[in-house]
Amino acid sequence: MRIANATHWNTKDLSRLIYRVAQDELDRGQLRYARVKVEYARGGHLGGNCTYGTMLQPHVRMTLRLPRPGKQMDVVSLAKIIAHELGHSKGIKHADMHNVRYGWVEGWRERYAYAAEFAIGVKPSPAKLSPEEKLAKRRTEAVAKAQKMVRKWTTAHKRADTMLRKWRGRLRAAEKRATSASPHTTQPLPSTNDPRPATMLEADNREDRIPSLAS
Ligand SMILES: [Zn+2]
Repeated sequence: MRIANATHWNTKDLSRLIYRVAQDELDRGQLRYARVKVEYARGGHLGGNCTYGTMLQPHVRMTLRLPRPGKQMDVVSLAKIIAHELGHSKGIKHADMHNVRYGWVEGWRERYAYAAEFAIGVKPSPAKLSPEEKLAKRRTEAVAKAQKMVRKWTTAHKRADTMLRKWRGRLRAAEKRATSASPHTTQPLPSTNDPRPATMLEADNREDRIPSLAS
């Protein structure tokens, strides 16, 4: 089940209630692909809707509309609404919902009395930062980001240095073998002209010497 919760009500608490109600409505696993949207109700009253599926293939695309925190949330009513919407997901129409399980028929509150034990909390509100605190936070984050990039590129740089040293060594050895082994070779050696821009060569020359073909 995936819940997109646009309200301040605690998503875990809502999820727990939905799972409990679904125990009486769906088989195990039928909630797996369920999509639930939670949003604020315009008039502040609880409500919901759901797509129609079939008994064999319930299709749960359910929206729950809740009052804003601070107003009273009747969890028993909410459980009832969830059951009603899950009924629709199995293809049940209103004509067949005049009963305590799906309708507002005498006795429905007793039917869903268990939900009273499910408390729906409110998400902790993110701490309000002053402009100075926001600036300080941004600057701290900028330092952390720069530190991370320096670490990353230090590693890359070391690795590149190692490879460069290794291949310069191999180049020296290969050139040595090529010039000494067969003096009558007609095969011209590949040019050692480095295609890199001069500035890069300069930087490299300070550490390593590029072998020259002194012949
Ligand atoms: Zn309905």
